[in-house]
Amino acid sequence: MQLPKSRRRQKLREKKCLYPGCGKIFFGIHISKYCPEHRQDRYRIRKRTKPEDVNIKNQTFKHNYTEVVTMVMNCALEGCSHQFEVKIYPRQYIYPKYCPEHRNEYRRIRHLQLIGREDLIEEMKREGENFELEALPEEGAEEGMGEEMMGDVA
Ligand SMILES: [Zn+2]
Ligand SMILES: [Zn+2]
Repeated sequence: MQLPKSRRRQKLREKKCLYPGCGKIFFGIHISKYCPEHRQDRYRIRKRTKPEDVNIKNQTFKHNYTEVVTMVMNCALEGCSHQFEVKIYPRQYIYPKYCPEHRNEYRRIRHLQLIGREDLIEEMKREGENFELEALPEEGAEEGMGEEMMGDVA
């Protein structure tokens, strides 16, 4: 028996969909990450690249240095008085805005809890969510929206 040469099929195997909250088992080739549904374009997870997103963890520092200089900056976190050194490079304008201790989001939340600024934690979380995912179609989201709209009319 002779098999046609073009029949070099990739072996399908059981895979688990990596889409957040899905986890469906499907058959795919080894590089498949998502179930057929979540392979569609509208489910693509995109990182937002709007300029303000850069400023969540970093700051824009405009300068005209033509050599590398070391600067001392203040941590941008509410209530933190730490200073940290930053190397400023020519033609590079994005720099960290938190002291090394607070570059970790968990530590920033801990700090804000300690000084009782829950409002700032909420704000930070909202910014973080926007950064990671674009609005996901949630189950039941449409129903909820309908109710809200009816409420507005009445
Ligand atoms: Zn899926
Ligand atoms: Zn700090």
